[in-house]
Amino acid sequence: MKVLISADMEGTCGVVSWVHVIPPEIAGGDEPSSTAEYERARLRLTKEVNAAIEGALAGGAEEVIVNESHDGMRNLIPEELHPDCRFINGSDKAFGMMQGIDLDGVGAVFFTGYHAKAGTPAAPLAHTWSGWLNDVRIDGRSVGEFGINAAVAGHFGVPVALVTGDDKAVAQTRELLGEHVVGVVVKEGYSTFAALNLHPAKAQRLIREGAEEATRRARAGGATPWTLPSGCRVELEMDHQARADQALTIPGVERTGDRAVAYHPADGLAFIRTFRAAMKAAAIRMSP
Ligand SMILES: [Zn+2]
Repeated sequence: MKVLISADMEGTCGVVSWVHVIPPEIAGGDEPSSTAEYERARLRLTKEVNAAIEGALAGGAEEVIVNESHDGMRNLIPEELHPDCRFINGSDKAFGMMQGIDLDGVGAVFFTGYHAKAGTPAAPLAHTWSGWLNDVRIDGRSVGEFGINAAVAGHFGVPVALVTGDDKAVAQTRELLGEHVVGVVVKEGYSTFAALNLHPAKAQRLIREGAEEATRRARAGGATPWTLPSGCRVELEMDHQARADQALTIPGVERTGDRAVAYHPADGLAFIRTFRAAMKAAAIRMSP
């Protein structure tokens, strides 16, 4: 069994500010300390991913593939990565945060560095996909990136086995996907921009242990894929009516509110294709 790691960044130990997670060229470089703080945060990100790789291999995974899943998708430090993994980087990937899910032999997915969904109080850097997407609901149930990505994995029959991040991210993921998902909390959120963190070395040790347990559990058949019901209703609520206007250009998408649209995907693949198209269409400039 191979393990695919979807490595986001906001849920990394010690990360509580956009300065920590936005590469300087994307931020515009106007924050004087952004380079130094971002560079330190990406090293911690890489070490947490390495801990998950070590745990997966100790738990019996044949191979671990890491998919960069954070802004720009060039945040991991390649030469610092565990030598026994392969990694996917760069943006514009058909499956986005789940790229690699269709590779032969992938039997479990890890979500590392994950954050809570948009609108969650006391959750560092909580959001869903983009700062302007207020909510994603599947058959009326609010899901974050963990739900969006789990649905893609589920389409390929692959369960999510591990989630690491802040306390709310871990709780929301396990509540949606099931208690079989091993959760590792590396920080407790005080607000959107503050947290009580473990020491990074301890966070990495717990991730290694959690990854090993998650791999053993998945190999024993103790993890269940999360699949969308066929023809379910997916609703996207945005922050502005003009974004909803743009999303309506996509076939099958209809308006359900001033700032909301909905569609009915046949399966998890149709779900993510239309979702990504809607996100691209709606990403218009809203201010001068
Ligand atoms: Zn991210």
